Amino acid sequence: MSKITDNIQSILTKTSDHKCTLIAVSKTKPNELLQEAYDAGQRHFGENKVQELVGKYESLPKDIMWHMIGHLQRNKVKQIAPFVHLIHSVDSERLLRAINKEAAKAGRQINCLLQVHIATETTKFGFDKSELFTLLKSGLLGELGNIKILGLMGMATLTDDTDQIKSEFLSLKSIYDDIDKEFSIPNLSMKELSMGMSSDYKIALECGSTMIRVGSTIFGERNYA
Ligand SMILES: *Cc1c(COP(=O)(O)O)cnc(C)c1O
Repeated sequence: MSKITDNIQSILTKTSDHKCTLIAVSKTKPNELLQEAYDAGQRHFGENKVQELVGKYESLPKDIMWHMIGHLQRNKVKQIAPFVHLIHSVDSERLLRAINKEAAKAGRQINCLLQVHIATETTKFGFDKSELFTLLKSGLLGELGNIKILGLMGMATLTDDTDQIKSEFLSLKSIYDDIDKEFSIPNLSMKELSMGMSSDYKIALECGSTMIRVGSTIFGERNYA
């Protein structure tokens, strides 16, 4: 068995008690390695740069489900609108409008997650709880018929303090549950909670994650030039 196949199997074994989707985060990695993961049965892949995502989509098998997990600029939405499976990183109303517009042009509905800022780092993107509730109460989603909100995404602080990570994930889960209880909007349903990466996916699963985004544990460390 290849190393990548081994790594995927090992994650799937560790997560088998949970109903969750493993997204293989393949950013910076060459197509051969993605193909190896594909051959091992992996179908969900995550990328954080539009250009790289488009290139890989064009070269690799067409039944791959592509997840956009990185910060997305409005002027780049149209490049991924025809094929993207789920955009995890929706962090503004203006981006939502842009996605809706490009989805309409592409003749489809695009699945999105709203990114929530749960970490203490100020550099991470996302809405805070009150911004999120303001958006949902505004009625805007009703006008955006080519968007479907499937849930929330968040990233915990990069720290060794597992109690802190856990409390950040639990705060996201509680926002998720509150939205589920308080809002009834046709194109919004709380089905997916995207949280957990290589270093913290086990904690995330204990806290209710339904999608884990794992890169280096599958493909090895990344080298940024
Ligand atoms: C890179 C990245 C991941 C995966 O990180 P690893 O630590 O390699 O598992 C997950 N989520 C987002 C948003 C990322 O940018």
